[in-house]
Amino acid sequence: MREHSDIVIVGGGPAGTALALALADSGWQVQVLEARTDLSRAAYKRTLALSYGSRLILERLGIWAQLQDVTAITNIQVSQRGSLGMSRMQAEEEGLPALGYVVDYAELDHALHSALQATAVEVVAGARVTAIAHTAGYARVQVERDGVVQQLTARLAVVADGGAGSAERIVREYGQHALLASVTTELPHNGCAYERFTADGPVALLPQGNGFALVWTGTPERVGELLALPETEFLSALHQHFGDRVGRFLSVTGRSSFPLVLRYARDVVAPHQVMIGNAAQTLHPVAGQGFNLGLRDAWELAESVRGCGREALGSQEMLQQYRAGRRLDTSASIFFTDLLVRLFSNANPVLQHTRSLGLMALQWLPPAKHMVARRMIFGARG
Ligand SMILES: Cc1cc2nc3c(=O)[nH]c(=O)nc-3n(C[C@H](O)[C@H](O)[C@H](O)COP(=O)(O)OP(=O)(O)OC[C@H]3O[C@@H](n4cnc5c(N)ncnc54)[C@H](O)[C@@H]3O)c2cc1C
Repeated sequence: MREHSDIVIVGGGPAGTALALALADSGWQVQVLEARTDLSRAAYKRTLALSYGSRLILERLGIWAQLQDVTAITNIQVSQRGSLGMSRMQAEEEGLPALGYVVDYAELDHALHSALQATAVEVVAGARVTAIAHTAGYARVQVERDGVVQQLTARLAVVADGGAGSAERIVREYGQHALLASVTTELPHNGCAYERFTADGPVALLPQGNGFALVWTGTPERVGELLALPETEFLSALHQHFGDRVGRFLSVTGRSSFPLVLRYARDVVAPHQVMIGNAAQTLHPVAGQGFNLGLRDAWELAESVRGCGREALGSQEMLQQYRAGRRLDTSASIFFTDLLVRLFSNANPVLQHTRSLGLMALQWLPPAKHMVARRMIFGARG
């Protein structure tokens, strides 16, 4: 572990490692501190829907070609349980080979760490950061490793710890849990991702391999019941909830659950410090935006860092410029995701009717659909 570096990245999850890779040939001395002792074990078992825009960033980082298990999303169907309104987005309408891709979090994490091994970036495993302070000109980072506490300094500390740190955050509890699982179905997915809104919360099926990754949101009690159901009962409950679009559900594996919150930092910058990825904002997974936004944080921070001189690195001016550049994308993503959850997760009959009309309008107004699709693929500034 180096006592002083230009840049210390706290957290070697996908946002932190993407930033480290983007800076690998920048000339800055970069060090990543990761709490996990075994980097071959990912922090989460999770499936990620990546937008086409994220693919372009991962291509520039040289990661995309390393991913083996990638399933293209060529169309997305958005519907509401109990109404006819439905909208369908298609990659060819956007002039793209795919709207997005489904990848495994662990595979992405592994590819990013493997790529870092071939660079000058130092990745320190088993290094848990316990505090960050600052002195004139530097961030001071306190790290615990093998029971030993050390103080490191850096011109810039980037917090990419997924939100585990103690920074002040605004929190909205949705009172929902997500049930995650892999399912197989009677009908093939043909590259289609389904987002279905129900009064209990959204349910998403993302095409993955020969089946789907399922994200089923509901109250903590309902999700607890679903986790405990025997397989056949679970599959018929899912069929009843989701409907007939993919025929019968044939098998389910790997059921787990996760509490859902919206949590975002009051301010993503502090002297010689900046937060990116889930440390800056943790979104509801309804529209699969979380990591896509975090990857854009990493990419744009790398651009700011590359463009600045030694004295400017970590300065107030540099950090304020970064914050101003990210504001629109971040706040639009938070607003859009939060609105979707609150607008669609209730049984109010007036709202149900309005939502149905909204989905129909989206379907029959190509410019509106195009705008939503571009926004989801490339972010608010894309
Ligand atoms: C159910 C669910 C489904 C999702 N689906 C999608 C999706 O389809 N598409 C999408 O884009 N996003 C999705 N997300 C969001 C996505 O998982 C996150 O945005 C992404 O993991 C954030 O990456 P990160 O690197 O910021 O944080 P993390 O993935 O949380 O990584 C943080 C890293 O920091 C390390 N760390 C933590 N504390 C410390 C410390 N004190 N010192 C050192 N290291 C530390 C951890 O070990 C970890 O490796 C989903 C999230 C959930 C919960």
